[in-house]
Amino acid sequence: MLLRHTPKKITERSALTINPAKTCQPIGAMYAALGIHGCLPHSHGSQGCCAYHRSTLTRHYKEPVSASTSSFTEGASVFGGQANMLQAITNIFSVYNPEIIAVHTTCLSETIGDDLKQIRKKAVTEGKLPKGKEMISASTPSYVGSHVTGFSSMVTSMAGLAQSTGKKNGKVNIIPGWVEPADMEEIKRLAGLIGVRHILFPDTSGVLNGPLSGEYKMFPDGGTTVAELKATGDAIGTIALGEWCSADAARALDKNHKVPCKVLDMPFGLQATDRFIDALRTIAGVTVPDEVALERGQLVDLISDMHQYLFHKKVALVGDPDQLIAMTEFLISMDMCPVHVVTGTPGKKFEQRIKELTKDMPFPVNVKVKGDMFLLHQWIKNEPVDLLIGNTYCKYIARDEDIPLVRWGFPILDRQGHQYFPTVGYKGGLRLLEKILTALLDRKDRDEPEQSFELVL
Ligand code: SF4
Repeated sequence: MLLRHTPKKITERSALTINPAKTCQPIGAMYAALGIHGCLPHSHGSQGCCAYHRSTLTRHYKEPVSASTSSFTEGASVFGGQANMLQAITNIFSVYNPEIIAVHTTCLSETIGDDLKQIRKKAVTEGKLPKGKEMISASTPSYVGSHVTGFSSMVTSMAGLAQSTGKKNGKVNIIPGWVEPADMEEIKRLAGLIGVRHILFPDTSGVLNGPLSGEYKMFPDGGTTVAELKATGDAIGTIALGEWCSADAARALDKNHKVPCKVLDMPFGLQATDRFIDALRTIAGVTVPDEVALERGQLVDLISDMHQYLFHKKVALVGDPDQLIAMTEFLISMDMCPVHVVTGTPGKKFEQRIKELTKDMPFPVNVKVKGDMFLLHQWIKNEPVDLLIGNTYCKYIARDEDIPLVRWGFPILDRQGHQYFPTVGYKGGLRLLEKILTALLDRKDRDEPEQSFELVL
């Protein structure tokens, strides 16, 4: 009874959020920045903010996360942080020598009104930004948006490095959105199998799921190189996965460099993966390779084998919009019923998409944008569910209401391995489905009376 004070009766709230279903913008900006090779993320604000962003990412990915900070104290908080930022640029390149720094603002530096573009110009004029090195920036005050919008802003800043030489390079930009490092690997594997030459950005594979080699590398081997980011302006097209995480960057490339873009859902589940594979296949001008067709068939087989245990199971979902849209579609395709769907991230289109996807469901759906865990808990008390899918914070609701929980999304702070196993693509679908089935069947085994406790399911 950890959440014993959550009442069943729902009272309308307009100016109070309790346990928000999101975290702060700079965390997303920092995660995106780690997907550039040789990049040092920099937090333009106080040390406390930076420590929080780093520790949240470290707790999820179980890897060290290096980042620098402008270390605001009282002076910078009152007079602005330009002097701190300029000193930081000098220190960072003389001590750590990254290829690029990716600077994001915080609540404090935004409130005082620091302008990172102007500070960058001053750094260049004063010769503080070494030749051949780059600095990109994103505006990420946390009193608006969420970790998702922070991620999107930094990815859009990466697209700002793109250059057009006038000669196409025959590659396709793939913007994967905020997915696990293993998901990024899987997206690259699928593109490779279909024969699509690509630039994936950002790419945290090999950065936040690296091996334990005994050797510490401040800048791990993975990540999209600055040269690749520059080459995105010469690509023949962009596939952006997720309207919230990736579309802005893709549209910027389209607008500034005439790189046409296609915005798809994140490839979680059967149908969204089908659309992704179809887009890759169309670009490559090939038929789907047998290996990919086999993986699809295996996922369809598992769905059909286990359909009897999935049918009309009610599910509550909480997380980020791009993930939730694809997951809702996946659950519906298996005749499961997502009855409560909550995201903490703003965006009007979300409710509309979920309502469209669930319109033929036998139960009404509750959808909340900019929602919180408190409301989700109340909804569950009023309309119980068979399964909860979401991040680690769901464990309190799961325990109080005695509901099986599948951990999926960000952050997962109390389980390991998620950074090594993809949940995108057909293979990822198999893993998602295995997790869902295991949670449901473990509960069935626990609750079944002795006369129907079966060895074979
Ligand atoms: S002050 Fe703002 S940026 Fe810093 S940790 Fe808090 S919400 Fe995030």
